[in-house]
Amino acid sequence: MSKIPFITKEKAEEIIAQYPTPFHIYDEKGIRENARKLRQAFAWNKGFKEFFAVKATPNPTILKILKEEGCGTDCSSYAELLMSKKCGFRNPEIMFSSNDTPAEEFRYANEIGAIINLDDITHIDMLEAACGIPETICCRFNPGGKFSISTTIMDNPGDAKYGMTREQIKEAFLRLKELGAKNFGIHSFLASNTVSNEYYPTLAKILFKLAVELQQETGVHIGFINLSGGVGVPYTPDKQPNDILVIGEGVRQAFEEILVPAGMGDVSIYTELGRFMLAPYGHLVTKAIHEKHIYKEYIGVDACAVNLMRPAMYGAYHHITVLGKENAPCDHVYDITGSLCENNDKFAIDRKLPKIDMGDILVIHDAGAHGFAMGYNYNGKLKSAELLLREDGSVAEIRRPETVDDYFATLDGYWDIV
Ligand SMILES: *Cc1c(COP(=O)(O)O)cnc(C)c1O
Repeated sequence: MSKIPFITKEKAEEIIAQYPTPFHIYDEKGIRENARKLRQAFAWNKGFKEFFAVKATPNPTILKILKEEGCGTDCSSYAELLMSKKCGFRNPEIMFSSNDTPAEEFRYANEIGAIINLDDITHIDMLEAACGIPETICCRFNPGGKFSISTTIMDNPGDAKYGMTREQIKEAFLRLKELGAKNFGIHSFLASNTVSNEYYPTLAKILFKLAVELQQETGVHIGFINLSGGVGVPYTPDKQPNDILVIGEGVRQAFEEILVPAGMGDVSIYTELGRFMLAPYGHLVTKAIHEKHIYKEYIGVDACAVNLMRPAMYGAYHHITVLGKENAPCDHVYDITGSLCENNDKFAIDRKLPKIDMGDILVIHDAGAHGFAMGYNYNGKLKSAELLLREDGSVAEIRRPETVDDYFATLDGYWDIV
């Protein structure tokens, strides 16, 4: 089994003639089709909305495409809020799901009408002092312990820094009600990159039951339940992708089973997906520039961990296609490396690939989310361009590559001194 790139070798060569490697490229058609499918999956819920997690791919052109597909944004910093505002997202299209939040960011979020999602009960006083309590407010829940789907442990919420305990969320709702809040939401994020159609339905059951209990215990009106992110993508080619239609149907069944009988059939379902919305629709495109034969076989490319950090940071697998050699036998074993002075700067280790020749173009798959965005400037390496493959086949540069002037830009006046 393999993954098929959304650009051919010929197309890549045409693009590279204008925009040199390395670069990230996004597939507008894929992004739109996937976003439409998500909406279709939750069409049964009148108030459904996806708030795209900006941190995954913080590019205004991408945000505007998603806006046209009916999405809002989910932010966790001032810069992300500002980008959302500049892209034209308006109340109530922005969710502010931050943690360890500075007071001035609460103030700004409130000013632009973002829905504030409180990570902790102690944030109530801070928010009250910063800007007062808005009418619509959300609280993040952490059930503690381990989170399992049937018998498989998916993640460990008891070790996670996020959210409030069961007792705290009740107390928070009562306090917020007293301070004037009228429309309440519940949010929780219990497992990351789940490749399972069961994650959202399992989470939904937990949150729907909690919503019914909290409404009975506190008398507040619960307007929405935010299932947050965590629906993943298969990075390895042997895994089956999630079926968002099956996921939406699973959530619908839980809704009918738990919320509707409690008279809460008007609750809106929100999501905050990042990876699922973008990862498969972005490639990091890079060129082989060195081959090295020592104790192992190395191929050096012109991209490095600065452009895509996940392999170095998490040991994450990203599939690689050598363009034009899609059908060649994978009879070579390589480490594919970047140029950082860090031995973990490897896009692949002991990877079976076709014979790679200098100048070959490599596509690194599933780089559309948490890819460019995580980049940094270690070793004085510069961030690449971001390109968009439009639906009509044309290519637009949606972020220029960094220059050395950008790298030095925060050293104002320093050169004059030395
Ligand atoms: C990171 C994050 C998301 C998006 O997560 P994905 O795994 O990309 O779907 C959503 N909500 C919050 C609060 C997050 O921190």
